[in-house]
Amino acid sequence: MITYRCDGCGKELEQHALRYTVEIEVKAAYDKMQVGLLDLVRDHRAEMLRLIERLKHRDPKEIEESVYKRIHLDLCPNCQRAFNKNPLRFHPEQGLPAGEVDIDSFLRSIGVVQGPDEEESPER
Ligand SMILES: [Zn+2]
Repeated sequence: MITYRCDGCGKELEQHALRYTVEIEVKAAYDKMQVGLLDLVRDHRAEMLRLIERLKHRDPKEIEESVYKRIHLDLCPNCQRAFNKNPLRFHPEQGLPAGEVDIDSFLRSIGVVQGPDEEESPER
């Protein structure tokens, strides 16, 4: 049985429970390169060797993450609301103000999402 844990609040998400996924790509951004005459006559081999020497003692994972990192999060409905409100300063406790509609309960009530107690029986 596949179960998930909310990456926001740590709550275990039951099988078939409504959950959200967040995919984040953090990439180094570069401007378009313009090649001038000075770039053509530079000693590129020496520059590459200096760069390799500088990077030789650094953690390869740290170097990789300084260019590209992919983040995957599973969120419960409460944390999804908190994330949508403020993705950069996301805290699970910001999720469900009193009186707000609980989408998970609503979807269950109309049968879109199956609850754990409504699972199909294993016999055939
Ligand atoms: Zn959560």
